[in-house]
Amino acid sequence: AQERKRKKAGPAKLTFEEIGGQESAKQELQEALDFMVRHEEIKQFGIRPIKGILLTGPPGTGKTLMAKAAAHYTNSVFVAASGSEFVEMYVGVGAGRIRELFKEARTRAAKENKDNAIIFIDEIDVIGGKREGGQQREYDQTLNQLLTEMDGIYSTEAPRILLMAATNRKEMLDSALLRPGRFDRHIQVDLPDKKGRMHILELHANNKPLHDSVSLEKVAEESFGFSGAQLESVMNEAAIYAMRESKKEIEQRHLSMAIDKVMLGERTDRVSTE
Ligand code: ATP
Repeated sequence: AQERKRKKAGPAKLTFEEIGGQESAKQELQEALDFMVRHEEIKQFGIRPIKGILLTGPPGTGKTLMAKAAAHYTNSVFVAASGSEFVEMYVGVGAGRIRELFKEARTRAAKENKDNAIIFIDEIDVIGGKREGGQQREYDQTLNQLLTEMDGIYSTEAPRILLMAATNRKEMLDSALLRPGRFDRHIQVDLPDKKGRMHILELHANNKPLHDSVSLEKVAEESFGFSGAQLESVMNEAAIYAMRESKKEIEQRHLSMAIDKVMLGERTDRVSTE
């Protein structure tokens, strides 16, 4: 059976401070958002408003976190969907779902008395793949509906809607999506460097007891190439190892064992450590 991901569209409380590393991506995004909220000036200058921001980069690097933080930053309602939801949908159902997303954004903004709404579509490549070659016909209507909705966004009317989308396969996207006035801002969210990894580890160590001798810098060094999601797993697995040994605190070797485990891609039974 196809796994269908539905990211919860609850209130977005997450801030940019809770995202580790990604300094240039965060800055670029904040600049775009700062610009976006200056709608009066944008109108005066006759500037085309930003309608879509595409986040690109490997899985687990924090693209969803960025979209949530963007919603918090701009005091927007946050409505989310994943491209994988649209897999196996009958013709027409996908287009309806897109219409619903926009409707939900407008209704919720009105209800919550907010001027802005961010609609986030993860795995946009599933519905926004290239249309050449007669493939993916079933997604055509869905993609067309998305383009129609985007073209219908007016920055002068509240709620002002911003579309954010994420993909790790930008080259697969249909060029219609990347045209000016659509997803014409691209922000690369890369794997974190050592400093970024250290920051992410610190964030995820916040609610965990660490032994005084633990060096997160060493962990950051040993976890070269890890994504934010993998680093979160490292902290979690280390806590599980410590708990299994009936220790009171997480030690360096638990972290090293956790790195090996995550590197091998194994999974343990999930134990809540909160
Ligand atoms: P995908 O492409 O697989 O959807 P993504 O880039 O959207 O991945 P997220 O869903 O944002 O990644 O991240 C997954 C989890 O990994 C987060 O909930 C968080 O726990 C952790 N994580 C990822 N990146 C970071 C980061 N930069 N700072 C802190 N935590 C992070």
